Amino acid sequence: MAKPGIIIVKAGREKSLERRHPWLFSGAIDEQRSNLEGVEPGGIVEVRGIDGGFLGRGYYNPHSQIRVRILSWDQTEALGPGWWRIRIARAIASRGALVKRPDLDAYRLVHAESDGLPGLIVDRYGDYLVIQALTLGVEVVKQHIVEALVDLMQPRGIFERSDVDARHKEGLSDAVGLLYGEEPPTPLVITEQGVHYPVDVHTGHKTGFYLDQRDARAWLLAHPEVQGAEVLNCFSYTGSFTACAALNGAASITAVDSSQPALDMTAQTMQLNGLSDYPVELICADVFKQLREFRDEEREFDLIILDPPKFAQSAKHLDRATFGYKDINMMALDRLRPGGTLLTFSCSGLVGPDLFQKVVFGASIDAGVEAQIVGWFSQPADHPVLLAFPEGHYLKGLAIRVLGQG
Ligand code: SAH
Repeated sequence: MAKPGIIIVKAGREKSLERRHPWLFSGAIDEQRSNLEGVEPGGIVEVRGIDGGFLGRGYYNPHSQIRVRILSWDQTEALGPGWWRIRIARAIASRGALVKRPDLDAYRLVHAESDGLPGLIVDRYGDYLVIQALTLGVEVVKQHIVEALVDLMQPRGIFERSDVDARHKEGLSDAVGLLYGEEPPTPLVITEQGVHYPVDVHTGHKTGFYLDQRDARAWLLAHPEVQGAEVLNCFSYTGSFTACAALNGAASITAVDSSQPALDMTAQTMQLNGLSDYPVELICADVFKQLREFRDEEREFDLIILDPPKFAQSAKHLDRATFGYKDINMMALDRLRPGGTLLTFSCSGLVGPDLFQKVVFGASIDAGVEAQIVGWFSQPADHPVLLAFPEGHYLKGLAIRVLGQG
């Protein structure tokens, strides 16, 4: 048996760790040879191969299928509080280009595994930070993380939004509340690409705002297709796409979302940008049903946006998810005038870009339209993807132009 705190990986199961993938699953552990004596859940363990060779060191959770998340591949590196500070500083430094932009004060500072900080999300919203501790290993060092963030960023307040399903898989309950400084106001107003948005960090989705859709907002702010267009914004949330399209001269916008509180915030989004008098039609409805209603009314649009929530939560939902994506894309393509544009997204990591493109193609066949891809979207640079961790890539989108009836 190994020394206390050492996990031995079964023969052949060390390959992914050798390729620096940071997850060690329960089934890959040789329980007989490992020694977890005295290791607290969330504590640090060393992972070794069957030959005793060092593979990595990380935090351990006996309640999670992902037993260990590797923090360091360097045997000489100590993993105390100072380690977290150094890694967080590295992640912040890599956002240098964003930090310097005067037109923007909201972005992701730490993107978990892809920043070498498994289980930790940190978003900046103006003077405040919002964090998510997705794992037990992060939960036990949360106070050190807060201290490091205060030191590195001098925020006015740090708020925690650890109310995510991922925590339940780690044996943790939700944790929401102020961790440091002043309570963030509701709404907190952020600026991105010169546009102002109200954000409710207490109850909004994710940490309050879809920071990952910055490139789509840039497209809407800049592209001539938007000017004079009748726009349908499906899954509109608090109206970030609505404001961008309005600022770029859309003739009218219809926004559909199933959440009345999200739709209610659209008025604030418009007001903050001098768009109080802009004609937005807000419809609280299920997009699947509403698109059929538009078909029955023979209502058509020049630009349709589909930015649904994650349909594929796990591999067993993949079939149903692709069916859902195909359905809304088919219905949307059917509602576009010839020459019109569809902006369509998927944030399901399990639906890769190739599959997504195939689904949209299938939708075009069913809608009986000929269409071409005129733009590609992904998550922006503050949501990086570590090459060793392709799971970090989740957001993909296409700009599709409808040529006519196929
Ligand atoms: N594009 C948005 C973000 C979309 S998030 C932005 O600019 O910020 C997804 C949204 O879909 C959420 O607001 C959620 O309330 C809504 N939603 C989820 N399922 C829905 C459904 N079936 N019909 C309508 N809206 C739905």
